[in-house]
Amino acid sequence: TKKRRYSPGEVIFSQGDSGNCAFIIEMGRVEVFVTSDLEKVVLANLGVGEIFGEMSVLDGSPRSASAVALESAELAIVSNEAISERFEAADPIVRLLITMLLKHVRFSNRSVLNQTDVSRSVSRLLEADAIAKQKHEALDRLRLESDLKQGLQEGQFQLHFQPIVNMLDRQLVGFESLIRWHSPNRGLVRPDVFIGIAEETSLIVPIGRWVIEQACKHLSLFKKQLEKHRFPQALFMSINISGRQFQDPHFFNHLLEAIKETCTSPKDIKLEVTERTLMQGASALHMINKSRKLGFQVALDDFGTGYSSLSYLSRFEVDNLKVDQSFVRNMNKDRKVQVITKAIIDMAMGMGLPSIAEGIETEGDFETLKQMGCEFGQGYLFAKPLSYPQAISYLLK
Ligand code: C2E
Ligand code: CA
Ligand code: CA
Ligand code: CA
Repeated sequence: TKKRRYSPGEVIFSQGDSGNCAFIIEMGRVEVFVTSDLEKVVLANLGVGEIFGEMSVLDGSPRSASAVALESAELAIVSNEAISERFEAADPIVRLLITMLLKHVRFSNRSVLNQTDVSRSVSRLLEADAIAKQKHEALDRLRLESDLKQGLQEGQFQLHFQPIVNMLDRQLVGFESLIRWHSPNRGLVRPDVFIGIAEETSLIVPIGRWVIEQACKHLSLFKKQLEKHRFPQALFMSINISGRQFQDPHFFNHLLEAIKETCTSPKDIKLEVTERTLMQGASALHMINKSRKLGFQVALDDFGTGYSSLSYLSRFEVDNLKVDQSFVRNMNKDRKVQVITKAIIDMAMGMGLPSIAEGIETEGDFETLKQMGCEFGQGYLFAKPLSYPQAISYLLK
C-alpha cells in the first residue's frame, strides 16, 4: 500500500472534493468535520487503525466532510479499486443496505449544520424521501427472499407445463416445465419476479432441485398416461437451469437421483440453459459437456438476446437452439427482425441443430416460422403453460 505523511494542520481532503481513495491511520490523529459559512462541527476524532474517507468511494458522491491532520500523521492509502471491486462483488442486498446507511450518515452529517436554513430543510425532506424509497426497496427484497424460503418449505410452488409441438403437424413432442409460485400474501407471483432474487441468494439451488424432481416425476406420469391409452409417442421434458445451479457440486447427483427415482431416461430430459450461463466460461462448458455425456439433451435458451451469441456456438455442443420470443413477436412487424430470425434458424440448421421457437401467438407467426424451416414451436397459439390436469387432457386429446 501507498503511504503518505501529513504535517500538523495539513488538510487531507475537503468537503466537496471528489473521493477517489480512503485512508487508514497508521500514525497520528485526524479530525473529520463539516463546515458552513457560520460554523464548524467536528464529526470524529480518529486515531491509529481507523479508516475514513471510504464513503465517497462506495457511493461515488463528493466528500461530505473535510479531514485534517491534528498532529504529524502517516496514512495508508486504500485505492478506489480495492474498495469498489469488493463492493460490486457483494451481495446485492448488502449493497443496498450499505448505500442506504451511507445516505443516513450523510444526511445526519449535513443536518448538524444550519439547522434553521430553509433550503436545507427542503433538501433534507427530499433526501429523507430517497432514503425511505431505498429502505423500502431493500426491505422488499429481504421480505421476498424470506417469503421464498417459506414458500419452498410450505410447498407453495407448482410446475406448469407448456406444450412444444412439431411445426409440420402440430403434434406434441414435449413440455417445458415452468415454475409458478402461489404466495398466500402476494397471490400468483411470476417467475420473472422471483427467479432473479432466488439466483442472487442461491435459493435457486434448492428451488431448482425441487423443479428437477417435479419435472421428472411429471414426465413419468405423462408417459404412464400415454402408455395406458396406447399412444406410442416420444415425449421430452424441458427444464430451465440457472447458472448458479451449475455451480452446485451436487447438481448431477441430484439430477441422476431424480431420474432414477422416477424411472425416466436422461434422453427425455432437455436442460435449457441461457447464454448468460454460457458466459460463465469454462465451468459452464464443462457442465454442458458432462450433461450430454450422461445422455441429457441441452437446449440453448433465449438465443440472440444475450451477448456474443455466435462465437459461443462454435465452442458448445448443444442439441437445440431456442429462438427467443422477442424475435417471434417482432418479425412480422419489422423486416430486419425477420431477416435476423431467418439467419438464426438457417445457421442452426447448418449446424444440425433443430430450432425451437417460443412465443408463437398467431397463425401468421406460425406460418412465417414454418416457411423459415423452424422445426419446433411453443406459444399461446398452441397452448399456454398448463396445470397438470390440463396437460393430461392436452396429451390425450
Ligand atoms: P423462458 O424460459 O424463456 O420461458 C418462456 C416464457 O414465455 C414463459 O414465461 C412462458 O409462459 C412464456 N410464453 C410462452 N408462450 C408465450 C406466448 O405465446 N406469448 C407470450 N407473451 N409468452 C409466452 P414464464 O413462465 O413467466 O417464465 C418466465 C421465465 O422465468 C422463463 O423464461 C425462465 O427464464 C424463468 N423460469 C421459469 N421457470 C423456471 C424454473 O423452473 N427454473 C428457472 N431457473 N427459471 C425458470
Ligand atoms: Ca426456457
Ligand atoms: Ca426462452
Ligand atoms: Ca425468456
